[in-house]
Amino acid sequence: MKTANCPRCHHELDEGPIMYRCANCRRAVYAADVENEYVPAQPVAA
Ligand SMILES: [Zn+2]
Repeated sequence: MKTANCPRCHHELDEGPIMYRCANCRRAVYAADVENEYVPAQPVAA
């Protein structure tokens, strides 16, 4: 069971697995969008 995070705000997403819903920015996020926008190989410099 993998965790999905919002591609916009990186908040933990609810529901799924087809479509998630971000409780933070109240945006519907499709699982396909999460996988497309999530780039773990590029760490963001703080
Ligand atoms: Zn969000």
